[in-house]
Amino acid sequence: MKRVEDLTAQCIRCGFCLEDCPTFTETGSELESPRGRIYLVRSAVEGKLRWQEDVKPHLDRCLGCRACETACPSGVQYGAILEFARDKIEQEKPSALKKGFLAGTTSPTILRTQLNLARLLPGKRVPGPLSKLLSGETAEADLPTLPTALKGDPLAGMDQASLPAVKGEVYLLEGCAMRVLYPHVHWATRRLLRRIGYVVREVPQGCCGALHAHNGYLDEAKKMGNSLVQTLSGDLPIVVNSAGCGSTMKEYGHLLETEAGAEFAKRTFDLSEFLLQNGLQEELAKAKGLSQRITYHDACHLSHGQKITEAPRALLKSIPNAEYVELPESLTCCGSAGIYNVVQPKLARRLLNRKWKHVESTQATVVAMGNPGCHGWIAQASRETGGRIEVVHTAELLERAFSG
Ligand code: SF4
Ligand code: SF4
Repeated sequence: MKRVEDLTAQCIRCGFCLEDCPTFTETGSELESPRGRIYLVRSAVEGKLRWQEDVKPHLDRCLGCRACETACPSGVQYGAILEFARDKIEQEKPSALKKGFLAGTTSPTILRTQLNLARLLPGKRVPGPLSKLLSGETAEADLPTLPTALKGDPLAGMDQASLPAVKGEVYLLEGCAMRVLYPHVHWATRRLLRRIGYVVREVPQGCCGALHAHNGYLDEAKKMGNSLVQTLSGDLPIVVNSAGCGSTMKEYGHLLETEAGAEFAKRTFDLSEFLLQNGLQEELAKAKGLSQRITYHDACHLSHGQKITEAPRALLKSIPNAEYVELPESLTCCGSAGIYNVVQPKLARRLLNRKWKHVESTQATVVAMGNPGCHGWIAQASRETGGRIEVVHTAELLERAFSG
């Protein structure tokens, strides 16, 4: 791993990133910009500023969206700087509450239990006392609703005559929140993979460590990452339908600092790129299609983290009978950003309102995306405005083009 001094030294302070940084455009403050935050981290590393008092409040307001990396002509690895700095801050003064919240969110069993128990409390939002403790502000995020469990074979009912022969197996990352809150997305994913000749090798698996890496717990993230590398060993491709997880897994070489981590990263694919590379467009040409006006929101860890913007668009545009329309400011964060909408609810709400205004401006009937965090947060905006625009994962919409 590069030293943080070398990473921060790459910033030439040109300011090209400023207008692409959502927290800078919302606040107008240099300290809430990538350039300002890099300067703060460098100064703290040199001992000129204090991590807790001078640096932490500004890093807490950073979304970790990495739009600054896309804009930066100097190749600054802002995500790596942020992970280092947040880890440093947590090591110096650990937050038991934040750590506990993350542990609950990344364990499917605890998450399910917590959501069931929280439903017993009044209100539809994240319980007020928890939000106050974590953020000092009133909660904005609705508690996720547990979906009805899906039972049976996800491949049941597919028209066998229209399917290609099985040509291989893949691993599918089940994730932690993803498997609890969006099992139907995994269902659609398995069907889409089968449509291009792949079946999923089922393996019990744990969390990838993405939320821990992004929130200041690099040791825990490494443990989870090393465990996943062992569990999904061999040479099968690993398909991921959650952008935040995929982004971290593609950076395991850097995070785990092992050859096995780097090799694992090379086998990791976002679902959209795997489907496009393996012929789903050709299959879509034969599908029934959808009479819908579709738009697409770029999840930050897919567009800025993995540099994938074209694959989902190419697939969505290939749905017969559908009309595709671009979303203004599609590359700007919606404010969900992992646990950001819980720990920074006010700023997250401003970004959600901005995102939703753009979604409505497209007059689409459905908006697709490839990350569970954005999915839940943007769906909340839809509910709050009457639910006229459906919010779905890209996989759901693509599968619907075949099966209706
Ligand atoms: S664009 Fe890159 S080099 Fe320029 S100020 Fe931003 S982070 Fe620094
Ligand atoms: S990660 Fe996003 S919010 Fe943070 S500095 Fe970069 S552009 Fe701004």
